[in-house]
Amino acid sequence: MKYKSCNLIQHGLCFFNNMLVSCCFAPCDQINGQHPPILFDNYKGEILSKNDLFFRIKKYSDIFKNGGVPKECNSCYHIEEKDWDEENYINSITITHFSKCNLDCIYCTNNLSQEERTNDIYEILPVLNRFKEEGIIKKGCEFHIGGGEFTIYKECDELIDLYANSGFAKFYVPTNAVKYSEKLFQAMDKNLAYIIVSLDSGSRKTYKKIKRVDAFNRVTQNLKLYAKTQNSVGNISLKYIIIPSFNDNCNEFKKFLNIAKQLKINTIIIDIDAKYSRYLNNNIDEYLIKFAQKLKLLSDMQGFSTILYSFYTQCSNGKELTNNIFKNIIGYIKYKFFNKAVKRLYKK
Ligand code: SF4
Ligand code: SF4
Repeated sequence: MKYKSCNLIQHGLCFFNNMLVSCCFAPCDQINGQHPPILFDNYKGEILSKNDLFFRIKKYSDIFKNGGVPKECNSCYHIEEKDWDEENYINSITITHFSKCNLDCIYCTNNLSQEERTNDIYEILPVLNRFKEEGIIKKGCEFHIGGGEFTIYKECDELIDLYANSGFAKFYVPTNAVKYSEKLFQAMDKNLAYIIVSLDSGSRKTYKKIKRVDAFNRVTQNLKLYAKTQNSVGNISLKYIIIPSFNDNCNEFKKFLNIAKQLKINTIIIDIDAKYSRYLNNNIDEYLIKFAQKLKLLSDMQGFSTILYSFYTQCSNGKELTNNIFKNIIGYIKYKFFNKAVKRLYKK
């Protein structure tokens, strides 16, 4: 039957540290504290009944089926019109209930302090394994990872082995690559895992300023290991998040591209810091939008496949950019020298 809905409300699960929800996407973008569709509140890894789970999913999906939109999904860009099936299965799982990380990035949107972040959280394997036994999780399911750093999460290796290296599912993992995971590499080599590494710099000095840990050399060494085979290198994206006053210069970006070239990584992702764009309610400086476009051009010119990512898209969406030289100069001066957001957001 054809109607407007979203795959995640029909077939998605997302594990937060205290609830099980359908997704972790905008518009529930933490700006106004709006929650995504909640399936189980106060959830701590309990084994769930299949009937109860799909009863709760159906309550939301029926709103779409009847021509409405759940308030949690209002104006979400994931809504699309197509034929939706009525079957009960899960084909997208997001794991984001852990928060421990071995870096301390200046732009991290995790609201917890380093001391408060933990992996001492409920286990996810018991409930997933039950779902798998019951045939709820569809073969080919996508696993998306959020939270802290996955490679140091206690169930990381077992999850990858049971769900990716067994050929059952594909993992999409943002990792900082401070720790190398052989299991992850094996899955990449089988085309069953894809990693995004935000290097955000081309030098040890800038990396340390942004990540607040001196791990640039270790990360580039580990990237070499991840990029060892033709298959595995094709499953890596290197990301450059533009952080005003830290790495918003072309020289740093060119050094970053050199690293990608040495490693033979083909996909470059460029984005604008989420913290900065949220702080300005997506009304970021025109200068920065144009700067991101300039970096894309530099990357394209060197033959990389270059993607401008989510916060860039949200910030530039529908914006008409000026070509007036005088306005451009004023914009640049305001951005560089009178930028209150930079002072408020980033304590160096
Ligand atoms: S429509 Fe948006 S908010 Fe609603 S479930 Fe889908 S992704 Fe989540
Ligand atoms: S690597 Fe990711 S989770 Fe860790 S501090 Fe940086 S942004 Fe936060």
